[in-house]
Amino acid sequence: MIYMDNAATTKITPAVIQAMCLCMENTWYNPSSLYAPAQRAAEALRDARARIAACLNASPDEIIFTSGGSESDNQAILSTAWAGARTGKRHIISTAFEHHAVLHTLEKLEREGYEVELLDVHFNGIISAAQVERAIREDTCLVTVMYANNEIGSIQPISEIGAVCREKGVTFHTDAVQAAGHLPIDVKAQNIDLLSLSAHKFHGPKGIGVLYARKGIPVTRLIEGGEQERGRRAGTENVPAIIGMAAALEESCSHMSENTGKLTTLRDQLIAGLSQIPRAVLNGSLENRLPGNVNLSFAGIEGESLVLLLDRHGICTSTGSACTAQSLSPSHVLLAIGRTHCEAVGALRLSLDANNTQADVDEVLRAVPELVKGLRRNRSGVVW
Ligand SMILES: *Cc1c(COP(=O)(O)O)cnc(C)c1O
Repeated sequence: MIYMDNAATTKITPAVIQAMCLCMENTWYNPSSLYAPAQRAAEALRDARARIAACLNASPDEIIFTSGGSESDNQAILSTAWAGARTGKRHIISTAFEHHAVLHTLEKLEREGYEVELLDVHFNGIISAAQVERAIREDTCLVTVMYANNEIGSIQPISEIGAVCREKGVTFHTDAVQAAGHLPIDVKAQNIDLLSLSAHKFHGPKGIGVLYARKGIPVTRLIEGGEQERGRRAGTENVPAIIGMAAALEESCSHMSENTGKLTTLRDQLIAGLSQIPRAVLNGSLENRLPGNVNLSFAGIEGESLVLLLDRHGICTSTGSACTAQSLSPSHVLLAIGRTHCEAVGALRLSLDANNTQADVDEVLRAVPELVKGLRRNRSGVVW
């Protein structure tokens, strides 16, 4: 089996499984309880929080544990919007190619009377700090721009956008779910106020994530209940998952540079090889691209058919976001960068990790051209 869908989720590493199992066996107590064994669980939680904070150059009390990237995005955006409304600021800036956890939250706010401005994305999948600067108004309460796009892998100039927002006094949130473990994150140097992470995108467990909130940035809780997470997120902490997340983040950050070299080589071979297919177009930027991301459109086919045929060859891929895979509407990301409907439905995304090999790449480069040719021939008997 060849797994090339790491943007959807990643395999948990043995070290992470071991850390989680040890915790489930030994420190399964409620960290809020008073007796000694529970205090060991509280200590393990503190340790994980400090290690995660260190990976981001944050302080431990700026780390809020959530159920994942979606919840972190929701909480960051809603909290800031509510705080904005209290001072008459109801204008929010974002982009048209954010994850649905961001876009659907913004749509909800729009229905509640907020004004949401989605910046146009350049055809290479990147927006500029100058675009953000031009869009900021007196009543802007939030700028939310993702660090790296989950479908086309394009990397945004987060530090520059952060600097603009800081100068103008506007809160800046970034969805860094796809960046974590692949790109350096330094919340201080990059002027980030709020940042979302999800463990299962960097070889940790599902259902656990982080909302980083800079000291002084108001965060309102979405989940009412106990006083966990300093009153910012109720519910007994998922200690094993949090410990697994800390191990996974440390592991992926410590291997970042060696993995980047390896992945970039494999990625560029795939892009070069698949670009030979007639009428193939690369989606996203060649230069500012996640090391493991490949996304091309083949006009005249449906990406879903290609994904299903590749599955028969034991190759796991995607058309783009797993969240849109259930619906046959074309990807909002590809439409946002100006792809035609026909191109947008013919997309194939390959997202690699360090377990992928040269043999995997060779196999994909053998399989895809033939399958695309076959799909184009079958469609209405016309040979494209
Ligand atoms: C996967 C993903 C999310 C959602 O994270 P979950 O932990 O699955 O809720 C949000 N944003 C981006 C960019 C993602 O890739």
